[in-house]
Amino acid sequence: MSLSHLVVNNPYNGEKVGEVVAGGAAEIETAVACAHTGAELMAAMPAHQRSSILTHTAGQLRTEATELGYLIASESGKTWNEGIAEVKRAAGIFQLAAEEARRIHGETLPFDAFETGEGRTGYWLREPVGIVGAITPWNVPLALAAHKIAPAIAAGNAVVHKPAEQTPLNALKLQEIMLHVGLPMTALQVVTGLGEEAGDALVRHSDVPFVTFTGSRAVGMQLPARAGYKRVALELGGNSPVIITESANIKTASAAIVAGGYAVAGQLCISVQRVLVQRTMMKQLVDALVPLVEALVTGDPLEAKTNVGCLIDVAACDRIESLVHSTMRSGAALLYGGFRIGRTSFAPTLITDIPTDRGLAMDEAFGPIVALLPYDTLEQAVAIANATPYGLNAGIFTGQISQAEYAARNLNFGAVMINDVPSFRSDLMPYGGRKQSGIGREGVRFAIEEMTELKVICSKSISLN
Ligand code: ADP
Repeated sequence: MSLSHLVVNNPYNGEKVGEVVAGGAAEIETAVACAHTGAELMAAMPAHQRSSILTHTAGQLRTEATELGYLIASESGKTWNEGIAEVKRAAGIFQLAAEEARRIHGETLPFDAFETGEGRTGYWLREPVGIVGAITPWNVPLALAAHKIAPAIAAGNAVVHKPAEQTPLNALKLQEIMLHVGLPMTALQVVTGLGEEAGDALVRHSDVPFVTFTGSRAVGMQLPARAGYKRVALELGGNSPVIITESANIKTASAAIVAGGYAVAGQLCISVQRVLVQRTMMKQLVDALVPLVEALVTGDPLEAKTNVGCLIDVAACDRIESLVHSTMRSGAALLYGGFRIGRTSFAPTLITDIPTDRGLAMDEAFGPIVALLPYDTLEQAVAIANATPYGLNAGIFTGQISQAEYAARNLNFGAVMINDVPSFRSDLMPYGGRKQSGIGREGVRFAIEEMTELKVICSKSISLN
């Protein structure tokens, strides 16, 4: 039987970059069957060997960063520089997982704390769940795959990976690297294909006890119902706010907003989307921001001078264009940008006076748009920040410790950055969202916790005769 194929196109110019098999339920079935063997091999593999495979993967990623960065840029439309940075970041995640693989442990249990436990000694430990199903998006394709595959392998699991249909080539390359450095073939299966076919079959498979998904809120929120009796971790969207108080350092804040608002053309879950500005600071902030946004070069992601790459496809660019137009029709004022450039690029856009109950203020834009919203009191700013269905990362720039502390305690988000934008993420921190931004936490150590199950071993003393 011949398999159908998916063409991978460069989102900037539409040129063909490659072609992969369009896998579906049958391929997932085969992959899961192989992964059973992989899971047995990995569970039996000592920690030092798992660690060594992960270290060598990190090393090989660093060696191939330039070429692999180019491949990521060609598939995803992010800039080549962003692609290279992503490969280095993925290498760091593998290195961290190599270190964590050596310290997955439990602790002893004081059973005699209760009368019924007298005469018993024992401990709890972590065992791998077996097969991890990993579903990843196109915006940070390699590093987010690393955030699922590296901890899964560190913990002694096998993985079935379904990469995004737009960016499957770097996933296949990662698999090649991992097999080359000694990972058993059955321990990492990559099934390329459409989300509603291969992805859905992976989610539903009864032999996959844990599925970890990063993607859209629309798809992610339906997964638990389709997954059946299994654990699911979800990293979904965001509408990240940053609060600028009167005591903020405007120069530092402006540079961070521009970096955090337009990286990967704003297609990150933790992109700066809303800047909540103390009303008296508005003019000063706008004066600082506009020249920085103006200086950004939007263009071919593969050219070294480009700062802002393109959107993932024509439909995404159409969506951003109509979002800007409808926001303008509601009375918003453009401060910069607001226009399309060619097929899939959109000028980095700065906008204000937006409606506060819908659109940019509430939903995830996933494009190069930053909105400035004025506020009067910090209590009001925090309330506005909290008023969306999302709760991933937030930030505040302030020179006052009491304001920082108030915001940190009252922002209903998975993480609060003080004197930085919400786009900051360290790969070792617990990362994940509240409300509709997701369920569970990544960040290697925390993912390992989700990818292992606890077992108690209890030994009862009995008399010698
Ligand atoms: P985006 O809008 O960022 O493309 P998606 O949620 O559509 O986000 O895609 C993220 C990942 O989820 C991709 O690998 C995609 O193939 C997969 N996916 C999409 N639909 C489904 C589905 N119904 N079941 C499982 N996976 C899916």
